[in-house]
Amino acid sequence: MGNIPARKVAISGGGKCNFTNTHADYRHYFGKNPEFTRSALTRMTPNNTLNWAKSHNIKFFEKTPGQYFAEKSSDITNALLQDIDNTEIVLSTCVQETTKQNDLFLIKTDTGNFQAKKLIIATGGISYANMGTSDIGYKIAKSFGHKIIPPRPALCGIATKVFDSALSGISLAVEIKINKETIYDDMLFTHFGIGGPAIYRTSVRNLENGFTINLLPGLDAFQWLKSQKQTNGKKLLKTVLSTKLPERIAEFISNQKTKNIADYRDTELQEIATNINRINIAQGTFSLHNFQSAEVTRGGVDTSEISSKTMESKLCNGLYFIGEVLDIAGDLGGYNLQWAWASASALDI
Ligand SMILES: Cc1cc2nc3c(=O)[nH]c(=O)nc-3n(C[C@H](O)[C@H](O)[C@H](O)COP(=O)(O)OP(=O)(O)OC[C@H]3O[C@@H](n4cnc5c(N)ncnc54)[C@H](O)[C@@H]3O)c2cc1C
Repeated sequence: MGNIPARKVAISGGGKCNFTNTHADYRHYFGKNPEFTRSALTRMTPNNTLNWAKSHNIKFFEKTPGQYFAEKSSDITNALLQDIDNTEIVLSTCVQETTKQNDLFLIKTDTGNFQAKKLIIATGGISYANMGTSDIGYKIAKSFGHKIIPPRPALCGIATKVFDSALSGISLAVEIKINKETIYDDMLFTHFGIGGPAIYRTSVRNLENGFTINLLPGLDAFQWLKSQKQTNGKKLLKTVLSTKLPERIAEFISNQKTKNIADYRDTELQEIATNINRINIAQGTFSLHNFQSAEVTRGGVDTSEISSKTMESKLCNGLYFIGEVLDIAGDLGGYNLQWAWASASALDI
């Protein structure tokens, strides 16, 4: 649709394309059936991706264990273009619909029509619309009888009124518990709620049961506050809290009260400690920020009707779906591009 090939890859990873992660296996993917990714990911592994990058002399570095970035995203897009050297790419063309007559797919676009014996749908998700995204992949899938798992934003911020917008701009390392999983990463307070890597990672997961945030991981806030009551009783609660938390958060938690810590009953300290160690972001008190800012779409073409070995539709011969258009969303850290490479490599055409 756009006038530059692979432009989402070009902007990925802040221009440094986080192109793979050696931890990529089905446990880092989300959707109705994450195990759908198993077969493709074991055939095109993250190490295969790294070897591909080496074979193109791409300079890359490991940012956190297993998470690989290119020095420049353009090195990745140039290498992809080299690999398809003799293939014609039609740019600035919008696919409008496809039908199948006899054994031929007819692809109708705004610049003319095309015919093909095999058709691969790699139209991505619907997030980040300014990158030329559209729902055409879902429409085509539906027209061939496929089910669509309702799309929703993922790898994005979370809007909530649990926090004061005055906290906007503060970043700190937190622990987040979602169902049985624990995430440790940085969280950023924003004008609409919360963001940063910890929240991006939260947003892609199953959130029916909400989640909890611990602002001081590794510290039992109740025990600490009780001991402060003994040793620093004449200090304001806010002053005590600001020895471990940014001042604006200390103010928010102490609720503007100007009481010395010694004047708090233990039951009150327990409540304050819960507001530090186990802030409950319950279902109904938050929403995923929006599609415009989301790095990926969760939901899409139901994988139960696609072969995990070849990516071919089980409903229509010669029709294939790869990448983000499928109901597969990867975690933050290079998992989505690894899925795009692996699912494309699985094609048997
Ligand atoms: C800001 C940002 C940063 C990201 N960073 C990373 C990262 O560092 N690492 C990582 O693993 N993932 C990252 N991702 C996610 C990753 O880019 C995507 O998951 C991946 O590009 C999906 O690949 P895809 O080929 O399935 O779809 P896309 O890359 O989205 O490609 C879909 C293509 O289909 C075209 N298209 C759509 N509709 C039509 C139509 N009607 N007619 C014609 N063409 C059409 C689009 O123009 C586009 O070229 C990032 C995403 C964003 C938005």
